[in-house]
Amino acid sequence: MQSLLIANRGEIACRIIRTARRCGLRTIAVYSDVDVNARHVLQADTAVCIGEAAAASSYLDIDRIIEAARATGADAIHPGYGFLSENPRFVDACETAGIVFVGPDSQAMRAMGLKDAAKRLMQEAGVPVVPGYHGESQEPDLLRREALAIGYPVLIKARAGGGGKGMRRVDSAEEFDAALAAAQRESTASFGDAHVLIEKYVAAPRHIEVQVFGDSHGNVVHLFERDCSLQRRHQKVIEEAPAPGMTEEVRSAMTDAAVRAARAIDYRGAGTIEFIVDGSQGLQTDGFWFMEMNTRLQVEHPVTEAITGVDLVEWQLRVAAGELLPMTQSELQISGHSVEARLYAENPASGFLPATGTLHRFRPAETGRVDSGVEEGDSVLPYYDPLLAKLISHAADRQAAFGQLAQQLADTVVLGTITNREFLWKLVSHEQVRSGRFDTSFIDTELDALLHSEGQMHALAVAAVEMAVPWIGLTEDADSVAQRLGPWQLWGGARRRIRLLLDESLQTAELQALPSQGHSAGWQVRFPNLEEFPSSGICVQALSPDRVSVDGRSVCVHAWRVTDRLSLQLGGTSAEFRIPQAGADAAVGPASDAIVSPMPGRVVAVNCSAGDRVLAGQSLIVVEAMKMEQELACERDGVIESIAVRAEDQIAQGQELLRLVAEEESTGT
Ligand code: ADP
Ligand code: ADP
Ligand code: MG
Repeated sequence: MQSLLIANRGEIACRIIRTARRCGLRTIAVYSDVDVNARHVLQADTAVCIGEAAAASSYLDIDRIIEAARATGADAIHPGYGFLSENPRFVDACETAGIVFVGPDSQAMRAMGLKDAAKRLMQEAGVPVVPGYHGESQEPDLLRREALAIGYPVLIKARAGGGGKGMRRVDSAEEFDAALAAAQRESTASFGDAHVLIEKYVAAPRHIEVQVFGDSHGNVVHLFERDCSLQRRHQKVIEEAPAPGMTEEVRSAMTDAAVRAARAIDYRGAGTIEFIVDGSQGLQTDGFWFMEMNTRLQVEHPVTEAITGVDLVEWQLRVAAGELLPMTQSELQISGHSVEARLYAENPASGFLPATGTLHRFRPAETGRVDSGVEEGDSVLPYYDPLLAKLISHAADRQAAFGQLAQQLADTVVLGTITNREFLWKLVSHEQVRSGRFDTSFIDTELDALLHSEGQMHALAVAAVEMAVPWIGLTEDADSVAQRLGPWQLWGGARRRIRLLLDESLQTAELQALPSQGHSAGWQVRFPNLEEFPSSGICVQALSPDRVSVDGRSVCVHAWRVTDRLSLQLGGTSAEFRIPQAGADAAVGPASDAIVSPMPGRVVAVNCSAGDRVLAGQSLIVVEAMKMEQELACERDGVIESIAVRAEDQIAQGQELLRLVAEEESTGT
């Protein structure tokens, strides 16, 4: 084997290229036309365009991929995960073309391809399976009777399902018909097959899976377990190895069952046996059941690599080349603990809806392992899975591994698209996750606590205001904000208002320049309509291009602005702001006709009288404050309605100085 074609894209294509190169193989990427500058294309030795953006016209097109392999003289094809990785017709096509498929033979793949047939097979092999109905008949009446016999709650599953699709939990008989119809519709749409099975919904369910590996000489080993119970929409977001609370007794029962499962189909290559585990009484030797087998490399394989020191892709390549498994069971040992977080372009606050955008900033933390498929400047396309990167930590124990991962997430900077970074950071910092007390419902139950909190939002919002002020034209230079606008040129400290869209909700910020001695002291900012925003306001001041002082606390703020959008990241928290209309329009005039003093001082001179018609820029009042004379200049044309102070008056902060009305209003009176 001298050259390898990778029939995939994104982080997994890059991951496979890395090992293939190290093993001395020539690497060939395939790509759709929108991926022409994608990282996997740039990293491979050769790359072939195989069609258009839609996966069906490129990454799922068996003929085009085989053709690309022939044209470039590829000896082998690695399918990665997703796309064609579990498609037995692709395996057959490789064989027909005389190309090595890096994975199991098509027979083993077919045996595990449909969940119902796989469960029947596993039952025969003596592997515990989830109690339920996995027969051929799909009569709704029969399915309803079976559900009742199993006992609610039950789970209706598409037999061809994957990625959590075509699955419905049903809690009572009344809900059954609607749930069945929904699961069938979803399954037909996603997999072209309406066939379902029904399972007992396991209480306090935990997802624990075992990595298995077989070679073509009849050897099978396991590489211990992974816990993938932290899921959203039945899909994993955090995975760890080993499983928290695992005992040697339960581990040996689970890994024995997994090896038995792999042997039952003469399995070759990397595979994963997924078990659903009853976590209500701790882990028990009789409390786990086979769910399905994934006949491919798993997304979360890096945590197993971390704790065993094995490069699973290297093993895949060696086994595909006909070699013996590089290690025996007794040579495999667990070392430390590893956790992975899947960083997605998606919005946890709106049901984890995938997001797109340009990665104006993309700087993964420099500690720990990062498997990523994108670079700064890349776009997140709507055609494919929005996985940006996987962050993986490895430490001596579970506490340290979670601590490290939290730090990696906080240090990773992503601006330009919405991501789940903050959500993951809160998730891995959560006390219950840290203590290992969770099941697959954890994210749903704790969602509110995992979205951003008001306090963090407030700090971000005032940082956004500080950054938006120079941008919307009040001044060009943040450092000279207070100087140029000095409170006295600003309508005598009248509040300026800036409107910002925060998560698409329109918010008004009131700004008041803070007293300064010739240099910028920043602003006191209020958001009168933002829930729970402190009524006294929050003081904010730019310290340097990437540091802001928030109520006297210096924090790092990463910012990126493009046209009317401002992306900010402050520590673990991030948000997107928009200015409703770019330009000076967004800065609305004074809050009221009353012009008040922003600070205590002494009136030196009053340069106007009631009834005067005044023009923008004209000097109205001179005040001495902090040993400096400041001029209050008029910012818009108008008529002085009344003046409330005289020369030599001492004035207090917030005291009314004068009233200015628009000309039309004054002529009527
Ligand atoms: P794993 O079981 O390896 O953790 P997931 O279930 O999250 O992986 O799915 C692996 C990848 O394959 C994801 O990118 C997912 O979107 C994709 N995927 C899973 N099942 C299917 C399927 N049936 N069809 C297409 N893509 C799928
Ligand atoms: P997929 O092919 O979509 O990965 P799985 O059968 O592996 O489908 O199930 C996906 C997830 O759904 C599991 O990780 C688990 O969280 C949940 N699940 C599946 N079966 C059960 C069950 N019987 N009881 C409780 N939860 C389940
Ligand atoms: Mg699964």
